[in-house]
Amino acid sequence: MYKVLKRDGSAKRAEFQTVHGTIQTPVFMNVATVAAIKGGVSTEDLERIGTQVVLSNTYHLHLRPGDDVVYRMGGLHKFMSCNKPILTDSGGFQVFSLAKTRRIKEEGVYFHSHIDGHKLFMGPEESMRIQSHLGSTIAMAFDECPSAKAEHEYVQMSVDRTTRWLERCKREMDRLNGLEYTVNRNQLLFGINQGAIFDDIRIEHAKRISDMDLDGYAVGGLAVGETHEEMYHVLETVVPYLPIEKPTYLMGVGTPANILEAVERGVDFFDCVYPSRNGRHGHLYTNRGHINLLNARYELDETPIEEGCQCPACRRYSKAYIRHLLKSGEMLGLRLCVLHNLYFYNHMMEEIRDAIDNGRFQEYKRNKLAGMQEFDSLQNKEYANIDKNWRKG
Ligand SMILES: [Zn+2]
Repeated sequence: MYKVLKRDGSAKRAEFQTVHGTIQTPVFMNVATVAAIKGGVSTEDLERIGTQVVLSNTYHLHLRPGDDVVYRMGGLHKFMSCNKPILTDSGGFQVFSLAKTRRIKEEGVYFHSHIDGHKLFMGPEESMRIQSHLGSTIAMAFDECPSAKAEHEYVQMSVDRTTRWLERCKREMDRLNGLEYTVNRNQLLFGINQGAIFDDIRIEHAKRISDMDLDGYAVGGLAVGETHEEMYHVLETVVPYLPIEKPTYLMGVGTPANILEAVERGVDFFDCVYPSRNGRHGHLYTNRGHINLLNARYELDETPIEEGCQCPACRRYSKAYIRHLLKSGEMLGLRLCVLHNLYFYNHMMEEIRDAIDNGRFQEYKRNKLAGMQEFDSLQNKEYANIDKNWRKG
């Protein structure tokens, strides 16, 4: 049950009730690829850093430990001892990006495992069955994410097939939710809008999937090589065609600035690997801009990563100590950096919700973006290309 509580311009502030708890949006989902956030972060830690929703990857869990193992262990929630909503992706993105060889057919995709190369097949029904086994709160529809550089003709053909796949996903999900031994019989299904950077295809597809009355709608196929301006343009074009009374999810995005721009355009669900991946490399987010903790200037720095930050790293440890841990290859260094970055994202979403509640989102966004430029402009030589390196992680 999704309810919009407040609008501030196009920005949405909402509440989403699920069987695993209520989600306050806009929300950032913390990415736990194989049912764990890389960097030694436990389910208990997630509770301390303000995580509302965990995202896990269907493709990875299907290969290891196998979704049948998770099913026999009572589903993902029990398996990882998590009592928060969990969203699983469809596996499609990994099939298309990780698998070395693949053949896309009407029935689904034939590919080879990236682990041991054995032959696999995944189509809409398989993706729904695996996600049903995992018992996530929200399942994502199986789709193809065409390249940002694909031709109009190919994208149209691909999106038409994705729509037919979505119909099959919905039928299969309805069937699975009706079975007695299904882990989560209230599993929700989000559809995904595709169409690369073609307005006409995006809009037509958004209309078609909106008619299907799904539990939520994602905008997919972004953050795959297009410019930030193209991404914002797609959002401005397509979000108005998605139902306002359903959650809107921008997949795989992004930097704090990307999130602020997308919230302004009506998006309320996000996920991205940047905070955890960058944290593992000592790249940290602060309200004054990025810092690279490996930099020699922090060798004797007694202050926390960010003054006033309530994350487990900043409440107790200095930059000098965490830097030393990273330099020594100590697991604790990675862990503290990941905790700080995830806390930074989760806390930013809290600030965003508060700003929308008080009708001052524009003011908040302006100040946040201006603040985050401080370090970057002071040390522009060092940080000139950080956004690029940041994206590569
Ligand atoms: Zn912190």
